[in-house]
Amino acid sequence: MIKSILAAAKLVKAPPARTSDEWARDKRVMPPSSPRPGNFDPDVNPYMRPAAWAAAQPCYDRETVITATQMGKSVTFENIIGHRLDEDPTPIMYVAPTAPLLKDAVVPKFDDMISECESLSAKLNVRKSSTFVKWIAGTKLRFVWAGSPSGLSADSVGLILVDEVDRIVNTGEGSTMVIVERRGDAYDGSKILYTATPTHGRVAKRKHPVSGLWHWEVAQVKALGSAIWKLWQSGTRHEWAVPCPECGEYFIPWSGLLWWPGKGGEKECTPDEAQRHARLTCPSNGCQIENKYRSWMNERGRAVAPGQSISRDGEVSGEAETAGSTHFTYAVSGLCSFSSKKSYGALAKDLLSAQQSGDPADLLAVYNTGFGECYAQAGDVPTWEQVRSMCWGYAAGQLLLEPLKIYCTVDVQKRRLVYVVRAWYAGMGSMLLEHGDLWGDTDQDAVWDQLSDLIDTEYGGHPINVTGIDIGYRDDQVYKFINDHKARAIALRGRERLDKPFRKEMVEVDRKGKTRKRGDARWAFDSPFAKRWVHSRFGRPDDRGGWWLLHQQVTDLYCKEIVGEEWREAEGKFHQVGENHYLDCEAMQYIMALRDKLQRRKVGALTKAQLAVAVKAGPIQEGGAEPLDDDATPAPVVLAPVPAPPPPTEADKPAARQRRADAAPAKGRSRFNIIKRPTR
Ligand SMILES: [Zn+2]
Repeated sequence: MIKSILAAAKLVKAPPARTSDEWARDKRVMPPSSPRPGNFDPDVNPYMRPAAWAAAQPCYDRETVITATQMGKSVTFENIIGHRLDEDPTPIMYVAPTAPLLKDAVVPKFDDMISECESLSAKLNVRKSSTFVKWIAGTKLRFVWAGSPSGLSADSVGLILVDEVDRIVNTGEGSTMVIVERRGDAYDGSKILYTATPTHGRVAKRKHPVSGLWHWEVAQVKALGSAIWKLWQSGTRHEWAVPCPECGEYFIPWSGLLWWPGKGGEKECTPDEAQRHARLTCPSNGCQIENKYRSWMNERGRAVAPGQSISRDGEVSGEAETAGSTHFTYAVSGLCSFSSKKSYGALAKDLLSAQQSGDPADLLAVYNTGFGECYAQAGDVPTWEQVRSMCWGYAAGQLLLEPLKIYCTVDVQKRRLVYVVRAWYAGMGSMLLEHGDLWGDTDQDAVWDQLSDLIDTEYGGHPINVTGIDIGYRDDQVYKFINDHKARAIALRGRERLDKPFRKEMVEVDRKGKTRKRGDARWAFDSPFAKRWVHSRFGRPDDRGGWWLLHQQVTDLYCKEIVGEEWREAEGKFHQVGENHYLDCEAMQYIMALRDKLQRRKVGALTKAQLAVAVKAGPIQEGGAEPLDDDATPAPVVLAPVPAPPPPTEADKPAARQRRADAAPAKGRSRFNIIKRPTR
């Protein structure tokens, strides 16, 4: 009797005899809609096998997995959960950032897995189950979104999977992680799995002195916005290494090893050429690896932590520096993906296109979802002296070349309007024409009349095409102005977060809740996104387009306000460190250009170096610009060299009034000349 109880207990207690991917090979059939229908084949993406392996090891109570997109990450975690429910049932909770994500993307895949796996569907209690709760083998699989703290704290569970960790934290529900950890702690022998593509962070590779492998270095936490990367750093720090097909040495693929003709140099190829000729460089001997070897390399891949070495025949030796950690953490590069959409060529094309656009959002997307790496803009916090160094050899109001568009953007203050006028070119190049402020109480008409005059200014015969005015203060005055200047002025509204760069919104009610008869419109925009683009203009190499020029009479005040906010990588947001009105104006300039789709205008786009040749001006030089025409209306800014004017105070107001008297209307009259017409 006792013997049989012991035998039964042994049977019940027996650990899973296999890992989840082997379970899936045996039991799981992928639906026809999946990239690889039919029996699940774990050998397609061998780099996910360490994730499945670690989930089955009792020595780890936490697991963190970082990948790019399209790497078979979701299917791996579905397998881990399916395997557990089938062969070692425990209550399971699946956490994702939002309910729609669960409902539309996650749950249907689990439904497919259950219906196409006989032993799971046989154990499914259909009557008790709902969309977000599946009863299988007498235990619950619950799907919970991060915005639902009650769902998170409902009952304790033996296995928790937290998906898209970075999106959870970034939506401001940071406490989710604390609640999740508490759920797991309440259950003996529980496991928590975290996974995501990473987001912001400044990370670097370091060559290990013993193994010679290049690992991700542990970054300072304050340099990291990405929650998944912080989790990853806190554990074993395993990475996927593959052998070079030419010399046989193992290495860890990452974006820095991707090569294309002329990379980073003067004769860099186009993104399309990069797609055709991209190679992966072997860091040991510089071998140039073609894309076709990807699966050969993956078949022989190994997961290694810092301190471990791999011989040419794949033998892993040496003790990991992180040995003993109960948190298995693992990262695999997008360069190892099985997907044809992530070939070396496709990734090279995406990366080079993003580098050429210089757009922080594009670059972030390529590094995060393409490679599975953190990314931080170089020179995120420029100094005001760096801003000043953007001055070029031209005077305020002078056009270097015929522009595509000229915009005026206006920041509304209580007693003044701060404005910037900038000319825009193909390829998102732009040059500052004027900056300044118009003084007067902005709830009265006089200052708006001045703005009316200002936006009639012409530059070398070119009018200001559109004026963008920031809304959120003095809305009634702004909408009145916009209605008085139909088709020439729009309202802009910066937001701390938006799901796209900008979006048109209709405003139905005014401040007092009264219906607006005219149905005013405004353009909401992602303010941090636009400001980061402005800051990304500094330190751009001369062989890139998207230049952003300042004229010689730019004031120190202007330069200081451009850096009046600093981007904090760890928090993923800006901090105000000084006045920032000109930064707001310049951020709006960028949105105006995007709104007109100028980023798609490639014909005639010049790099900064080509521009210098085209106008024979170049960075500040003596006599580089023609003097202003004295007969024209007075220049709106003082002439260089400029002592930094103090920030405006009450005492400045008389001077400001004088400025107003000087600001003669310039209707229909050209105030400025073009230095040189473009050579065609
Ligand atoms: Zn090699």
